[in-house]
Amino acid sequence: PCESVDSMPWFGMDIGGTLCKLVYFEPKDITRDEADAEVETLKNIRRYLTKNSAYGKTGHRDTHLQMNNVSIRGRRGTLHFIRFPTSEMGNFLALAKSKGMANLVTTVCATGGGAFKFEDNFKKEVNMNLAKFDELDSLIRGMLYIETTNPRECYYWSNPTDDSKCQKVPYDFSEPYPFLLVNIGSGVSILAVYGSENYKRISGTSLGGGTFLGLCCLLTGCNTFEEAIELATGGDNTTVDKLVKDIYGGGYGRFGLPGDLVASSFGQMNSKDRRNTVTKEDLARATLVTITNNIGSIARMCAGNEKIERVVFVGNFLRVNPIAMKLLAYAMDYWSKGTLKALFLEHEGYFGAVGCLLQFNG
Ligand code: ADP
Repeated sequence: PCESVDSMPWFGMDIGGTLCKLVYFEPKDITRDEADAEVETLKNIRRYLTKNSAYGKTGHRDTHLQMNNVSIRGRRGTLHFIRFPTSEMGNFLALAKSKGMANLVTTVCATGGGAFKFEDNFKKEVNMNLAKFDELDSLIRGMLYIETTNPRECYYWSNPTDDSKCQKVPYDFSEPYPFLLVNIGSGVSILAVYGSENYKRISGTSLGGGTFLGLCCLLTGCNTFEEAIELATGGDNTTVDKLVKDIYGGGYGRFGLPGDLVASSFGQMNSKDRRNTVTKEDLARATLVTITNNIGSIARMCAGNEKIERVVFVGNFLRVNPIAMKLLAYAMDYWSKGTLKALFLEHEGYFGAVGCLLQFNG
């Protein structure tokens, strides 16, 4: 449990391989006495965090995810969701210091690999201790809390292959167990969840969001995730991949493989002529499709082995990424002949940080 259980401010931090997620609880039920007793620094920090949606060059508050009037440990308030690249940790610590945070906060609840990697930096640079929590415990705790608190958290994609009909549909996840939880961050973890305290990590793959972004930067010269997604949106993977019909001239009917199915990801790129005509957009799209379908295929095998029918996909790889979500939705449905359902959550990448904040409860 956290030392600074009662002292504000309340933060939960998930320091991942690519992004650092920070969840901040802003109390809205402050009494007159509390307000009088509150130190100026704390007021300043609150003002700074809640007034801005950009912090420095690289920090962002996801205002569309903000949750008002939530209850945590008997207090009412607002949850704010902030992220910045983990590579900017040095600047973050400098900022925290300049805002007087170092004098105010002695312990921060943290999870993710960075809670270990940066522990010394927190201590040396801002004299803060990290109360460390396991990232998978935090992920599940955070997701269950947000899912039950926000009535519109969980959804699925209907008609994922038909752009004119495809839409987000709310899903009632009030009876969640069992479900498969696929966390697509820099890498991928797959958990089978049977109850709030009962889960196991059954698989994972190193071909994750970090792989998509890394390969995309190499192949297209892009520099950000947003750029990579934008390129992919305007691209066509069928100029890059070899499809079943490129090999068979049509479908492989005997085993039910349609002609438009990818038989070999990037399978056209051995041809010099094809390499000369392919666009950056096509390469970005093919990278996105390759990584996404591979994750979908592993998730499907895991679901089959565990005899679980609902698969919840989370992680920041899904941020601003409807292409990947629709592909996953389609792949789950198609390859399971309709028995598996792909589900998604609005606060996609923030559950670890939320769960960490909640562990204040001890
Ligand atoms: P981690 O905890 O490993 O950092 P996340 O769940 O935060 O994992 O997801 C990181 C992945 O999210 C990246 O590999 C990338 O694919 C994607 N992503 C989404 N938004 C961004 C962004 N602004 N910057 C970098 N990667 C992003």
